[in-house]
Amino acid sequence: MRKEHQKQEHTNSYYAATANEVTNYPALEGAQKADVCVVGAGFTGVATALTLAERGFSVALVEANRVGWGASGRNGGQLINGISGLGKIAKRRGSEYDDMLWKLKWLGNDIVYDRVEKYGIQCDLKSGFLEVAAKPSHVAYFDEFVAEREKHKHAYPYEVWDRETTRANLGTDAFHGGFVCYRDGHLHPLNLCLGEARAAHDLGVRIFEQSPVTDIEHGSRPRVKTAAGHVDADAVVLAGNAYGQFEPKHLSNLVFPAGSYIIGTEPLSEELVDEINPKDVAVCDTNEVVDYCRLSADKRLLYGGACNYSGRDPASIKAYILPRMLKVYPQLKDVRVDFEWGGKIGIVLNRIPAAGRINGNVYYCQGYSGHGVNATHIMGELMADAIGGTMERFDLFADMGHFRLPGSQWIGNQIIALGMLYYKIRDRL
Ligand SMILES: Cc1cc2nc3c(=O)[nH]c(=O)nc-3n(C[C@H](O)[C@H](O)[C@H](O)COP(=O)(O)OP(=O)(O)OC[C@H]3O[C@@H](n4cnc5c(N)ncnc54)[C@H](O)[C@@H]3O)c2cc1C
Repeated sequence: MRKEHQKQEHTNSYYAATANEVTNYPALEGAQKADVCVVGAGFTGVATALTLAERGFSVALVEANRVGWGASGRNGGQLINGISGLGKIAKRRGSEYDDMLWKLKWLGNDIVYDRVEKYGIQCDLKSGFLEVAAKPSHVAYFDEFVAEREKHKHAYPYEVWDRETTRANLGTDAFHGGFVCYRDGHLHPLNLCLGEARAAHDLGVRIFEQSPVTDIEHGSRPRVKTAAGHVDADAVVLAGNAYGQFEPKHLSNLVFPAGSYIIGTEPLSEELVDEINPKDVAVCDTNEVVDYCRLSADKRLLYGGACNYSGRDPASIKAYILPRMLKVYPQLKDVRVDFEWGGKIGIVLNRIPAAGRINGNVYYCQGYSGHGVNATHIMGELMADAIGGTMERFDLFADMGHFRLPGSQWIGNQIIALGMLYYKIRDRL
């Protein structure tokens, strides 16, 4: 089905350097049986496995590399409500779905807050996400945020900041205003993923690392195969996102891997922290290709951005990202950069996560378009619902059509960007 995957250890990130645990789950060998076999141990796979285990299913979780090795262990750590593309689902379903979709938007946040508490996961979770207007016209977005919260009598605090307040709280004049949501926040994503995996393991999930899945044999009990073993299960969940190359007949040319990159500075002085982010909120701008940043627990600035579809990482991530950071924060010009890393985001042209079923018992969900900490937890719960026989919320996504861009593995950058532009224009009509 796919070429043998090269097994890898974690990338050289701030997160890997500060991980709570160096996992060493066994490789899959011989024959295993489970109710459900989940392939890929990022947030999608781990969250699904944990939900299923909490509901009494026996689960095997098979990961090519290490738990959290992909985007889930490398991302900006911004916990942001919503799922990209939800607006399109709302449009299609009509107003009777309003309340259900509003609750769905926040479900991932609820799950993360609950699990951090329930399982005692140390992942530096902090409340507060600030979206900053990159252009004067973007300030109007915040009126919509307020209106939707008022409409749904949203229980959690938020604030709209004018330009002056934004400048005072961020130590930069780069933005025209901001909207802070205190039910959103930020966290150490690798430690969240490792903690959830440990909780799943304690509930009986069998986790296999360094075990790339090479094939899936379909049938009433599909077989998930690796070089040295296999798992027979009633249902399979494919959770490889931008790193997965499963089921090409059904899933190729649907999700496009795009590189995003982060640098981590040395720990900042108290004066600098007070100047650039005294409220310790996650920050993301409103541009089409976003820049995002936050302080780590030890007060480094983790600054990320950019997005490329070429499949090639820049020769120097630091040289690529640092000028973007200094444009916003020139006062950091003498600060040392200690970490630089990147990861793959899964982009879908119409921005709705691609979820569905193959042959009735192989489930998949992929393509969160760069917005996955919350969304993966939502989709994990929806996939667990579906496997348990409750399809309603899963079908909100599975029923949405997706366009597969033929030959996109060869045509690259420009055509994918063009495809995305096409959907953007269509959305505005
Ligand atoms: C640099 C960067 C910054 C980001 N910042 C944010 C952010 O701040 N906030 C936010 O909400 N989202 C962010 N995202 C997006 C978010 O990280 C992803 O949407 C999310 O982590 C996707 O999770 P996943 O489990 O679906 O995929 P992944 O975490 O990529 O996991 C897929 C797993 O599948 C495994 N796998 C693949 N093929 C096989 C196989 N054949 N056999 C077995 N296992 C296999 C891989 O090894 C990998 O571990 C960012 C992404 C990147 C790259």
